[in-house]
Amino acid sequence: MAQTTSESVDETETNETTESALTTARRQLKRAATHVDVDSGVVERLKHPTKVQRVSVPLKRDDGELEVLTGFRAQHDDVRGPYKGGLRYHPEVNADECIGLSMWMTWKCAVMDIPFGGGKGGIAVDPKSLSDEEKERLTRRFAEELRDVVGPKQDVPAPDMGTDAQTMAWFMDAYSMQRGETTPGVVTGKPPVIGGSYGREEAPGRSVAIITREAIEYYDWGIEDTTVAVQGYGSVGANAARALDEWGADVVAVSDVDGAIYDPNGLDTKDVMGHEERPGMVSGYDAPETRSNEELLELDVDVLVPAAVGNVLTADNADDVQANLVVEGANGPTTFAADTIFEERGIPVVPDILANAGGVTVSYFEWLQDINRRQWSLDRVHDELESEMLQAWNAVRNEVENRDVTWRDAAYIVALTRVATAKETRGLWP
Ligand code: NAD
Repeated sequence: MAQTTSESVDETETNETTESALTTARRQLKRAATHVDVDSGVVERLKHPTKVQRVSVPLKRDDGELEVLTGFRAQHDDVRGPYKGGLRYHPEVNADECIGLSMWMTWKCAVMDIPFGGGKGGIAVDPKSLSDEEKERLTRRFAEELRDVVGPKQDVPAPDMGTDAQTMAWFMDAYSMQRGETTPGVVTGKPPVIGGSYGREEAPGRSVAIITREAIEYYDWGIEDTTVAVQGYGSVGANAARALDEWGADVVAVSDVDGAIYDPNGLDTKDVMGHEERPGMVSGYDAPETRSNEELLELDVDVLVPAAVGNVLTADNADDVQANLVVEGANGPTTFAADTIFEERGIPVVPDILANAGGVTVSYFEWLQDINRRQWSLDRVHDELESEMLQAWNAVRNEVENRDVTWRDAAYIVALTRVATAKETRGLWP
């Protein structure tokens, strides 16, 4: 069963502990719109998703019991190309969260100038409660429920929290079986053997490192003299830390969910294993000093990269952050209130929609490879990612310089201008 939901959100809400992704996303749109000369009707349209699918997904558990789970796919805007964004399996997945996250995807694709719009979806389920067989059955049925609204030219999902390359392989197989043709371009983040791209896994972390390197150069610090603390040593954090370490920065602190390790002389990031690589290896590492995750955020370093979870930099700790620059590796690590404090304190924050956009950029490369049935080498992926990141960085930097705005406002100005201009040029149908 699919139906369209409506949403009601007050974007003037100020209690940041209850701020939903949709509230934040609408607030950011409203703020960006004040800087850009676009039709107010276009901004009004962008406050709303085009469509939200809500589907019931029956799952036969391994013990034979039947459970009906709820899945969503929010499609925010496709004026520049197919909807694009992850599918997450998490107990708290709901329509509003998917809408808010799909809006972020619209801006992320636009700031990168890749021809995709914004989508996000998922199933309200605890992925740890699923056996591999249950996860496969659930994913195949979810693919079937979404079959009419996804496709290489319509909406292209990707992995997100609780889903991975194998989940995408099942989704792609289910879709392909029903279509009667192998259709790798229906999802990205697949294993390379069935049309996935080399370099997709490390791309978000790599882009965080590229943007951090450019920001260090912009502020004229010199990467060899820069100290970095990274919260979260998973896919994004570890790849960002290792690239920055390789390029000469001193990564002095990293953390996983259990805590942080700190070496003022710099850690050997290749020696520190991520939680996924070896559980407990971050917090259990033989480092000179340890810290809590909260303390890591307040270390006296040049660059802070929050790359674990959202909402970690808040009104409660923003005054205590000592870093001179924040580069967002995670999605939404800085609340609206913390952002204001950082602005007042003159601490630049380079936003997620630019910094971690390497993931969706290499997803775009994957989609191109699938359509052309031609795989790129890892070197080519790295070269093209570098070039796309630099173009996006330059576009955002120009706005920072020309308008004297924050990095976040500048990124939103770039993105909103591109989306709004496309909407104005195409006009309203009918
Ligand atoms: P991951 O699961 O690979 O790693 C997360 C890391 O954070 C792990 O080291 C984990 O131990 C740690 N962690 C978890 N909860 C924590 C907490 N409460 N406090 C401190 N540390 C905690 O996840 P990831 O793929 O690296 O994603 C990290 C963030 O980056 C998320 O916000 C995600 O949405 C965002 N992101 C991921 C991608 C991607 O493709 N992987 C792309 C863009 C953005």
